[in-house]
Amino acid sequence: MTIRNIKDWGLNINLTPKQPFLISGPCSAETEEQVLETCTQIAHLGVHMLRAGIWKPRTRPGSFEGLGAVALPWLKKASELTGLPTCCEVATGQHVETALKHGVNALWIGARTTVNPFAVQEIADALKGVDVPMMIKNPVNPDLELWIGAIERISHAGIEKIAAIHRGFSVYNSPKYRNQPQWEIPIELRCRIPNLEIICDPSHISGTKTWLYELAQQALDLNFDGLMLESHITPDTAWSDALQQVTPEGLQNILQQLKPRQLDTDNSDYLNKINQFREIIDRLDTQTLELLSRYNPSFL
Ligand code: PEP
Ligand code: MN
Repeated sequence: MTIRNIKDWGLNINLTPKQPFLISGPCSAETEEQVLETCTQIAHLGVHMLRAGIWKPRTRPGSFEGLGAVALPWLKKASELTGLPTCCEVATGQHVETALKHGVNALWIGARTTVNPFAVQEIADALKGVDVPMMIKNPVNPDLELWIGAIERISHAGIEKIAAIHRGFSVYNSPKYRNQPQWEIPIELRCRIPNLEIICDPSHISGTKTWLYELAQQALDLNFDGLMLESHITPDTAWSDALQQVTPEGLQNILQQLKPRQLDTDNSDYLNKINQFREIIDRLDTQTLELLSRYNPSFL
């Protein structure tokens, strides 16, 4: 699969090796003022791309389902004011066409759409001949094949600027988080498609503000390439996902606490400890193989 890295998406996204790609903005575009205020206030915090939901796939009818195309000029204005590229969710071919017509710079496929190969294929068909970065969220259910299948459909449409977004997996009566991280699934995705960058979305995993920092730090420790964090000028009155959105100040607090993953060190205490662990693991490996070879000599 030919995949181009986020820094090569042609959107002027300058990342240092220690800096995760950061997408932020409101869950939904609600008013022009809310979009512009949120985006201008977060722009100087190290955000690389602005987000806002235009079409919202809601679990139950009657919830706010997004304003649709009328909100797209606000996103464009936010981009002009901040100099940052924008992204929004698409769930149909029509959404793709409308978003592109209004100059949205990158698109993502939401978790409720990734589950449906017909919907993903419709989006892929609308993307033929188009050069726009596409981010594919995991399906709501923990099915890696379905996630990879959606990525392949977009790739087969000729899109090379592709990234995955990990937003957790739903279970009935979720104990702590709104969605379970099941980190082993994005880790397996990394093994299967090593050149695919993966962004973590702690907001939709957590479901509340409480665990955003913890999850974001865990994602960085696991070498994720970026973060998507929802922010809102007045989260308490947000029309969707009110509990999990943070103010620009709240976002700044999280970002200030995050530590990038340290790839090397000359701390001798740490290096000694790691060497001791490696020796123990080697010894245990040898003992395991010796035990197994008692029953089957071909193990040695
Ligand atoms: C969103 O990003 O606001 C959203 C609806 O996400 P998800 O598809 O992860 O539920
Ligand atoms: Mn949301």
